[in-house]
Amino acid sequence: MKALAKFWKKTNGKVECYLCPVECKLKEGQVGSCGVRANLGGELYTFTYGSLISSAVDPVEKKPLFHFYPGHLTLTIATPGCNLHCKGCQNWEISQVQKGQVFSEPFFEETFVPPKLIVEKALEYGCKSISYSYSDPTIFAEYMIEVARLAHEAGLKNIMVTAGYINREPLEEIDRFMDAYSIDLKFFSDEAYRKYSKGRLEPVLETIKFVFKRGKWLELTTLLVPEYVDETQLRDIARWIVRELAPWVPWHLSRFFPHYKAQDLPPTPVEMLERAYKIGKEEGLEYVYVGNLFGNAYESTYCPNCSQVVIGRRGFTITSLNIKEGKCGFCGYKIAGRF
Ligand code: SF4
Repeated sequence: MKALAKFWKKTNGKVECYLCPVECKLKEGQVGSCGVRANLGGELYTFTYGSLISSAVDPVEKKPLFHFYPGHLTLTIATPGCNLHCKGCQNWEISQVQKGQVFSEPFFEETFVPPKLIVEKALEYGCKSISYSYSDPTIFAEYMIEVARLAHEAGLKNIMVTAGYINREPLEEIDRFMDAYSIDLKFFSDEAYRKYSKGRLEPVLETIKFVFKRGKWLELTTLLVPEYVDETQLRDIARWIVRELAPWVPWHLSRFFPHYKAQDLPPTPVEMLERAYKIGKEEGLEYVYVGNLFGNAYESTYCPNCSQVVIGRRGFTITSLNIKEGKCGFCGYKIAGRF
């Protein structure tokens, strides 16, 4: 439903949205690049406050978060729209909203799920957390903040699954209620970000560094898009994680499949995923995973000290768990995460 937005100001007769680095400057009636925020009467409105377009109970492994209370269920919600426009978006039906749609479709006006109901459903379904995902939750910041606030009051955790394309001030407000983040670090090239996602690299790096410094649980994902990601970028990403964050930050390497406007690209070759895994390990990362490749050996968590499987996985299913009080059940080495 329509609601007054946060994170905007008036400049030179326009409304400037500073929720994300696109920083749209909107004249009367204009809609932002995300397709779901518009200047109406000199004020910025979101048209999707509580307009849930997708929800599901997922294993937390699907986010992907492998070190945050492994095996728990998380109620995942999304409203439509996105502030990035990735060529190969796998959720493009809900994320890539046409700009005119916010005015013309009754869905935006009529759909409203009260935040309290989300929390009640999460508890009813036995979830330990609520995840904000599928589209990018940045564009439903106001709603996410309200749901997350109530979730904390009810003893639930909050997880933001995002591309990290958000400005500092809104992120600080959101972060008050977040416990964990799954952030895409899509490329290590500003050019690739611009061409593939219509975004930029630097704001994403800033978001990741901020979240890490705040001490929130963080896992990173890189989708290996052929022709956009190469070995040099992968090595740069791995080195950057070790240098700017820590070797124990988990890095997920995800297999790309052609979607949306990237039908001309092939799926990521398996050899490329295995090579990327080796690069991560060579650069000193302790937890590297290969995703979207069901049944591969790199879905499991290996103890960095004794190399035994401490969390066995097949797809999103936990097959074994050998962690005791946050330590490897075989050698006692501390395993990074929240358990
Ligand atoms: S959230 Fe939407 S309206 Fe606001 S700056 Fe980003 S793209 Fe523009």
